[in-house]
Amino acid sequence: MPSQAERKRARTRTKPNVARKVKSSSFSWEAVAFAILIAAASSTYYYFNYSKISLLPVSSESTEQDFKEDVPRTPWEPTPDNSIFNVVDIPGKGKGVIAGRDIKQGELVLRDRPLFILPRAINGSPIEPIIEKLTQLTPEEQEAFFELSFVNFPTHLNPEEHPAEVALAIFQTNAVSTGDGVGIFPTMARLNHGCSSAFNVVYMWRPEENQIVVHALKDVKQGEELITTYTNTRRPRDQRRAFLQDHYGFHCTCAVCSLPDDLSKASDERLSKISYLYEKFAGWGRQEIDGTQAIEYIREIWRIENEEGYTSERGSLSADAAWIAAAHSDANATQAWAEKAIHWFTAEIGADTPQVVTLEVIVDHPQRHRAWGTRDAMDVGGPDQASGESGFNLSK
Ligand SMILES: [Zn+2]
Repeated sequence: MPSQAERKRARTRTKPNVARKVKSSSFSWEAVAFAILIAAASSTYYYFNYSKISLLPVSSESTEQDFKEDVPRTPWEPTPDNSIFNVVDIPGKGKGVIAGRDIKQGELVLRDRPLFILPRAINGSPIEPIIEKLTQLTPEEQEAFFELSFVNFPTHLNPEEHPAEVALAIFQTNAVSTGDGVGIFPTMARLNHGCSSAFNVVYMWRPEENQIVVHALKDVKQGEELITTYTNTRRPRDQRRAFLQDHYGFHCTCAVCSLPDDLSKASDERLSKISYLYEKFAGWGRQEIDGTQAIEYIREIWRIENEEGYTSERGSLSADAAWIAAAHSDANATQAWAEKAIHWFTAEIGADTPQVVTLEVIVDHPQRHRAWGTRDAMDVGGPDQASGESGFNLSK
């Protein structure tokens, strides 16, 4: 997926005939298969952080797709350059994606269909199914695949002479989770990574549409790089960098990782506090805290996120708050949090999602929330109006 500096070293322009010389590998395929699972799992940033306490029914349902081998493949097409972005060479980072014009928060930036999808679990060598899929692609699609960057190529092998291993390395580097499968999305793969407040677009797999959609989490100025995140970055810089080095082969130099040490330390403390508070509020699901306490944790998360400039996952956070409010039969709070959730889900994953459609009903009829009245009645409170959200283009 990424094209950061280190992976540039391993890059090759080889476009081999993939139908030949597949069998001559000297790899341990078992080890490689394991590595694929690790890389792919770490690519599912948005899914696995979707709802900390799995409160919202639509969020848990959306993770339950079966892998369907027999679904007819929709041909991949290069995204037409319609001015919203351009894929360009970025010094020190390989390829990257630049906004071709100003982009508004919540705008749909990209739809990308997979070149192919493989099951998450593969028995035996993963190289054969990869090659099989590649041989089914058009020459243009094959070219799109082999133009992607890769890391962790065995140093004792020459990429020019080992196209099958190159294909595998590309797959490992770029595969993104699609529920029970892992897929290759050639345009989306060009998005580079940033941590915490440094990413400005978010991707999501839509199984019913067989595509990944990318939305702008924040306003983006023309000429700015569009940056997504490959993992949960609500952890300190050292941990983020170690993870990204291990899984994606680059040393992160995003705007947050590049902060001077004192500012970086302050950011680390905020991110650690946010993670800590997420765990605390999840205690509501285990009946360890009451609704008022849970909502106060959520408000505190919100305040610290404002300081940090971290605005991702607020749709699911607000939806969880709406769930808690509904469970305690607090109609006003349910409505207020549902409105928040609609706003942020719309920005991050789109207005045409089941999350938004479901919550629109709840805004008008809070008593129809499926959690309604399942805990003791209590005024838990709505969003913290005093904290404000200036700078994030919010009207709600
Ligand atoms: Zn970083």
